[in-house]
Amino acid sequence: MPVNRDKKQQMISFARALEIAGDNLPASRSVELPLIEALNLVAARDYLSLERVPPWDNSAMDGFAVRAADTLGATPQNPVELEVDGVLAAGAAPQLAVRAGRALRIMTGAPMPDGADAVAMIEITDGGQSRVRIFQPVSERLHVRYAGEDVEPGALVAAQGDLLGPAELGSLASAGLARAQVWDRPRVALLITGDELVDPGEELPPGKIRNSNATSLRAQVIDAGGVPDYGGAVVDDPAVLLAALERAAESADFVLSTGGVSMGDYDFVADVLQSAGFEPLFAWVAQRPGAPLTCARRDGTLFFGLPGNPASTMVCFELHVRHLLRSFMRHPRPQRRRVAAHFVEPFKKRAGLMHAARVIAQPPADGVGPWTLRPSGSQGSALLRPLVRANALALTPVEPALVTPEHELEALLL
Ligand code: AMP
Ligand code: MG
Repeated sequence: MPVNRDKKQQMISFARALEIAGDNLPASRSVELPLIEALNLVAARDYLSLERVPPWDNSAMDGFAVRAADTLGATPQNPVELEVDGVLAAGAAPQLAVRAGRALRIMTGAPMPDGADAVAMIEITDGGQSRVRIFQPVSERLHVRYAGEDVEPGALVAAQGDLLGPAELGSLASAGLARAQVWDRPRVALLITGDELVDPGEELPPGKIRNSNATSLRAQVIDAGGVPDYGGAVVDDPAVLLAALERAAESADFVLSTGGVSMGDYDFVADVLQSAGFEPLFAWVAQRPGAPLTCARRDGTLFFGLPGNPASTMVCFELHVRHLLRSFMRHPRPQRRRVAAHFVEPFKKRAGLMHAARVIAQPPADGVGPWTLRPSGSQGSALLRPLVRANALALTPVEPALVTPEHELEALLL
């Protein structure tokens, strides 16, 4: 007899479930990665620039390196004419200096030569080769980018706790850093259970259904920043399940199972957790979908048994797991954005359960009031299409069987 059947008596609130799982968050670890692999991860230490950026004064324009004083009084009718002694390309160290009455052609990014204090961009000249005519005066420092203008050596270029996006990574690279110490992604093992499951692409025999959870859940894990580990569906046999759980728990920070946590004859997840020595944290949460949600822990591994119905699996991940994966990575904003909202029409629900309704949420026309909510379709826990259409989950109050437009709710924007 599956052990889960008496657990329903100890059903806990949604808020309590969040609290318990949050208190059992596995420990984060930091890793050093090449910059590009650190994208969207969080810096685990401060980084100071190793270099001056840019390393030397350089030209911001294609044109002529000149002495500003030599261009005084230049006009289109009465241009200044200077001798051109050579050309400076980006990437070459200047060999020549600019002497009075003379100029060097210079390209964007080329180091400023000695003697020059400004750049006359090509557009205000005749572009001449051996002699150049300049039609406007240039002021000192015009079109010169100064050494250290972006970053001085020793300046902070990434602080511990910073989320490293493309600009942050580029800034680290420009400061001479090739690798970064960041909080690692969680390893998330998936145990997709059910004798009835057949993967897409394979023939569907009578009695079988498509294994959609393996795809939706892996996608959710990746989307949250985790690294899923999935080795194919597991049959509803306690011995097979136990072996799969032991293998999964070996190196995972989180183990997520789907199916097998309800009241059926073949719902063995709770028994197997017990056999494997997991400490039960909760089983059954006063919510819909996903009331049979199970949570347990062994050493540094947190286990969630997600109910198998496709919408239950996805909603339970969204409500209970996603923010933990992001917290594990020390993400500065682990939670989805939440907004105050209300239904447009009365919404029927089960008394005593918090419903996470799949809804289409619309922002207030004035940009300040509550959002408005409409169900995105039937709320059946086996249906995926309403989740496809939904852009939010509305969290209802627990008690009433009817939520009216007067009830102010929180909606979680997906
Ligand atoms: P269970 O939680 O094992 O009782 O499963 C509940 C319902 O979800 C059943 O109708 C299952 O067939 C269905 N289900 C379980 N696992 C999956 C899966 N991986 N993909 C799609 N449907 C599933
Ligand atoms: Mg099952």
